[in-house]
Amino acid sequence: MVNQAQKGAREGNRYIDTRGQSPKPLEFSEVIIQGLAQGGGLFVPVTLPRLTLDDILDLSQMPYAAQGARIYEHFEVDFAADQIASLMTQAYGRNFDDPAIAPLVSLDEQTHVLELWHGPTAAFKDMALQCLPHFFSAALARQAEAGSPPPDQLILVATSGDTGSSALEGFKDRDHVGIITFYPDGGVSDIQWRQMATAAGSNVGAFGLRGNFDDCQTSVKAAFSDAAFNERLLREHQVSLSSANSINWGRLLPQVVYYVSAYARLVASGRLQAGEELDVCVPTGNFGNILAAWYAREIGTPIGQLYCASNENHVLTDFINTGVYDISQRSFKLTPSPSMDILISSNLERQLFELNGRDPEVICQWMAGLREQGRFEVDSETFDYLQADFRADWVTSDDGLATIRQVYEKYGYLLDPHTAIAYQVAERLRDHKQKPILVVATAHWAKFAANVAKSLLGITVDQDLPAELRDLSGLALNDWLCERYDGLTIPATLAALGDRPVQFSEICDSSTQSVEATVLEWLGRKKI
Ligand SMILES: *Cc1c(COP(=O)(O)O)cnc(C)c1O
Repeated sequence: MVNQAQKGAREGNRYIDTRGQSPKPLEFSEVIIQGLAQGGGLFVPVTLPRLTLDDILDLSQMPYAAQGARIYEHFEVDFAADQIASLMTQAYGRNFDDPAIAPLVSLDEQTHVLELWHGPTAAFKDMALQCLPHFFSAALARQAEAGSPPPDQLILVATSGDTGSSALEGFKDRDHVGIITFYPDGGVSDIQWRQMATAAGSNVGAFGLRGNFDDCQTSVKAAFSDAAFNERLLREHQVSLSSANSINWGRLLPQVVYYVSAYARLVASGRLQAGEELDVCVPTGNFGNILAAWYAREIGTPIGQLYCASNENHVLTDFINTGVYDISQRSFKLTPSPSMDILISSNLERQLFELNGRDPEVICQWMAGLREQGRFEVDSETFDYLQADFRADWVTSDDGLATIRQVYEKYGYLLDPHTAIAYQVAERLRDHKQKPILVVATAHWAKFAANVAKSLLGITVDQDLPAELRDLSGLALNDWLCERYDGLTIPATLAALGDRPVQFSEICDSSTQSVEATVLEWLGRKKI
């Protein structure tokens, strides 16, 4: 499969959807533009590749971009091998501040941390969003060459912080694509706000919304499904709306790469025996990252147990432990790990499809239950599979912060509040000393300076920082932390934020009309 791919665009693996409502199976280049399937389902490949241990270990000496290209070829994405290689080289290069792209740090012999935050916005969303835009543009160009040029794409993102800045970085200055993010005003960290408000690029926009993240998501979703609005965009501006959220298969596949790559590198460096099982613990929100680990295992990577770590919004923990997904009585909690503050984990639908024998009718019933009653329960066979693959636990906000301090004191290594949740769950669930574990690190601590400072000072979440720190910006607080604690450094891209002029300071109401008016006004001034 890897060798035959020399000619031009080739026939690739096809994709079906979890609700079985797509008229026909599509190819990779089509599903990444479409995002969500007709009928609301999520795309999955018809067949999954199967890698041998040698296939996996062969990756260990390659640069990360070449590893990515090799995995994409195994998945038979419908681009020629040389084009895949070239897109991957653009995706994973100097834009990351470590040549390993996703370096591994071993805290002790059995505890390895996979750092996924070396991209331009210092959170793991970059692993996918530095990659997808290259394939997205190539897919648009492909359609244009084939004589059916698609309209320009305007990507709308509702974000609780990390996705927005990462998507702005990934899609900036691309032809035929515009990108606007909406974030809850006052609901993102100071650094996250700066990343979005100072976003540069001819085709970008960022707006605060009066309301919380839920309001944000609801208004943006409503704009997507407003037929008259979509028609007007097409007629007056020749653009169609597109989304870059984590249900896009083009965001999931890049995440499979780092699990396979990490396994190969741990073996090559002697930290793991070839073929030995590696457990993985993932701080989970929308279930994308942990699902990628599941796919990495499914295609042959010797991954053992998957540990799903949640914060106080622990609907996934309860689901994995009981087989009942229930949000009917659950209230949304704000925590120091905002990217995991999620009640509806959209990528779980793919996992359920894979575990229930790929039965789209049953998926439709479960999703209808969730929509109408706020709950569904899986059958006992699916539950058995779920229990075989996953274990889950959750951590309170105060325990999460305490974990940051404990790990710093023990190893001199500073975790961000999301990774701390995973570390704590790993400590509780892992088979100590018996089995190696990979703890997945999803953000640099400096994005969440205030809560990290609370942790190091031994303050609980509800207490205020001392008076002299309370009014410092995130940037100043980061400087204070670096001066006071040994061995801390700030990624250059974050340190540079203070010098970047604010481009966007507008706040709009959280209503469909207001979001639509903002989009139209932006289109009047920006050129895609
Ligand atoms: C998005 C995000 C998560 C959650 O990842 P999912 O793929 O949604 O489960 C965890 N940590 C950080 C820092 C994130 O940005």
